[in-house]
Amino acid sequence: AQLQLPSPPHHVVKAKHAEYEPVVTRSASIPALLQEHITQVLADAEPDDAFYVADVGDVVRQHVQWMTLLPGVEPFYAVKCNPDPMILRTMARLGNGFDCASKAEIDAALATGVDPTRIIYANPCKAASHIRHASAKGVRMMTFDNADELHKIKKWHANPQMVLRVLTDDSRSLCRFGVKFGAHPEVTRSLLQLAKDLDIEVVGVSFHVGSGCFDESAFHDAVVTARKVFDEAAELGMHLEMLDLGGGYPGADCSTGITFAQIADVLRPALAAMFPATRIIAEPGRYFVSNAYTLAVNVHARRVVEAKDQESQKSFMYYINEGLYSSFNCLYFDHAHVSPKVLVKDGVYVHGQEIGNGETHACSIWGPTCDSMDVITRDGQLPELDVGDWLYFDAMGAYTVAAASTFNGFRRCHVIWTNTEAHRLLI
Ligand code: PLP
Repeated sequence: AQLQLPSPPHHVVKAKHAEYEPVVTRSASIPALLQEHITQVLADAEPDDAFYVADVGDVVRQHVQWMTLLPGVEPFYAVKCNPDPMILRTMARLGNGFDCASKAEIDAALATGVDPTRIIYANPCKAASHIRHASAKGVRMMTFDNADELHKIKKWHANPQMVLRVLTDDSRSLCRFGVKFGAHPEVTRSLLQLAKDLDIEVVGVSFHVGSGCFDESAFHDAVVTARKVFDEAAELGMHLEMLDLGGGYPGADCSTGITFAQIADVLRPALAAMFPATRIIAEPGRYFVSNAYTLAVNVHARRVVEAKDQESQKSFMYYINEGLYSSFNCLYFDHAHVSPKVLVKDGVYVHGQEIGNGETHACSIWGPTCDSMDVITRDGQLPELDVGDWLYFDAMGAYTVAAASTFNGFRRCHVIWTNTEAHRLLI
């Protein structure tokens, strides 16, 4: 399939993140930017803060892959995954829509200049004030999965287009949402009937197989479930026109064992067979951003744990300036696995290459706060590091900065942006 990218603008927009001033946007490789920034830090003896290098180009490549493997499925990017304005602008430039969970996310999506029809308010349980906000802003598509929500919608939204979120089997996913959301197949018919009775338009069905799905057949089964709800609606004289395939598509880094290509291989024939003439959208989050972010952290303290006896070896405790309360909240909330690599050793830039004779030591890596829960790994294996060395972590774009706090007074990481696909899409 031929990708139609919008024509690039003739200016470069600078990114702003958290409380930091705008940082550079230019075309350079990730290793080059990591090195450049650290070299400057080392030379100027500036603060040794952790930082991200993020690549718009990676997001663009993911988009190209999506259009190639799932042509005809419109991505509505899940803002919650990483709401950085640069990511949102990129999505808008690529022609994608937005899945928003709150009024602030709706505003962030609209700030890119997209039309409200390119937004789905995909939180099945919404506060009345947020529903009113959606109504005022012209955002019509919203999900629901229970009767009370429909009554609220009737009261607070002028012109809704509802999408019934159905419960699917999420037992094959690391992050399961079915315990909280999704209408059981036993109640979908009565919910459709209620919408009809209340004169609320229902335009489609959505599902979310859960994030970190490790069995692509879960997507097939969910499409079958959705088909049944479409048929129920038809029996009630309602015509549904849209299917929303939800999120849960892995990024380029595939820690769950299945790839986006495998999921797409399952979805294409299922959609062709069961939904040949239906508009299809999806709500990918991590798929677009996980691989785009590389995190560089500084080892600001260490403790040598001496060998207990002649058989054992000494090990190390390293303390770095990002932790469970900041970027590594993904370890807790997203069941993420991260792996540290050495970036700078004794002032020399090594970028993950073997150091010396390749000798490594057992180590644990701790976040900067005073909480002992703030640990990144207890069973690492790294070359011996010193205070002042740097580590980096790949694929840190999803559910990291989005939920990072400033607990213990540590400020959020700044982001240095690049675009390795600047020839295709200038942001
Ligand atoms: N859609 C909804 C309703 C969600 O709750 C989420 C994640 O929580 C997503 C989409 C995005 O999921 P993922 O980042 O795994 O694609």
